[in-house]
Amino acid sequence: MKQQMQEAEELYRSLVEDTLVGVYIAYVDEPGFVYVNPRLGDIFGYSQEELVKMTASDLVIEEERDIVRTHQERRINGDRSNIHYQFRGLCKNGNRIDVEVLQKTSTYKQKPAVIGIVQDITERKQAEELVRKSELLSVIGQMAAGVAHEIRNPLTSLKGFVQLLRAHSGGKDEYYRIMLSELDRIEFIISEFLVLAKPQVVFQRKREMQPLLEQIVMIADTHAIMHNVQILTSYADNLPAIVCEENQLKQVFLNLLKNAVEAMPNGGVVTVSASVEDGMMLIAFTDQGCGIAEEQLLKLGEPFFTTKPNGTGLGLMVSYKIIANHGGTISVCSKEETGTTFEIRLPVR
Ligand code: ADP
Ligand code: MG
Repeated sequence: MKQQMQEAEELYRSLVEDTLVGVYIAYVDEPGFVYVNPRLGDIFGYSQEELVKMTASDLVIEEERDIVRTHQERRINGDRSNIHYQFRGLCKNGNRIDVEVLQKTSTYKQKPAVIGIVQDITERKQAEELVRKSELLSVIGQMAAGVAHEIRNPLTSLKGFVQLLRAHSGGKDEYYRIMLSELDRIEFIISEFLVLAKPQVVFQRKREMQPLLEQIVMIADTHAIMHNVQILTSYADNLPAIVCEENQLKQVFLNLLKNAVEAMPNGGVVTVSASVEDGMMLIAFTDQGCGIAEEQLLKLGEPFFTTKPNGTGLGLMVSYKIIANHGGTISVCSKEETGTTFEIRLPVR
């Protein structure tokens, strides 16, 4: 009998102590934890000894402590149902993580208690967010396909007639100039949309990156000089060729260069560099411009996010989409009033 009990205890102990989810027991009527397993400590970066001296709210970011409090009150008021919720957790080092809790009532040493199971779902949340963003992009792409084609034809005839009228009218040239430039703008938006709508391309062509970048720098140079911006380049030797859709990559490079120039209203230097890092082609665009505020970094790539009076907020969305289609990534590093670096990583295949 004694041996059986010992075995049972060992079994339960290893089930709880060695499991991959955080586990705790807390009394309903008392603050703090009665027991926490080692994994719960790992999730938040505390030791078990530290955790038992803390309360549940200490593990929650301040803005969301009400959630925990509400659930505790429900328990105190006699609610014995299972409770399942998510919150933003606060780690010892100040990091914020996404956490999921499943809570069940029970008794421990003859007192009403709750048993909680805690999981770090940060990575899952990030993956969900990625799916959400790309789903949004594909929906917009589909809608754009129809709309853009419908708009293109009337636009062409409007443009033609405005040009004709301008040729035959005496004066009022300024009006026609504005009308034509507005039509150009609509046309530009439509063509950016159409890239989204294009069916996925099969990439069969290997392309050298350096000539491609050189061409783009040449195209962007006039725009840059007009804005008092100098474009410097630095290419590593023996850059590998990349299997890609050349025109789409060019579009991305142009978008990023244009943004870099536009970020420097008082002029400055943009550096374009290409190298190989960890088996990936790394292409970086660094400017000395206004930088991007932290809360705006998250919005980059969202359709219509722009801080420019005449911006479309579509350039980055299209660029992200193109690079994702190439199996690559874009990352941004920015400091306000100092400058921004956009880094593109493409697989070398
Ligand atoms: P648009 O250029 O039409 O505004 P984008 O999608 O190209 O649209 O860029 C969206 C926004 O991202 C810009 O309005 C700007 O606020 C910010 N941004 C992009 N690149 C830079 C940069 N290099 N420096 C500062 N801000 C940038
Ligand atoms: Mg832009």
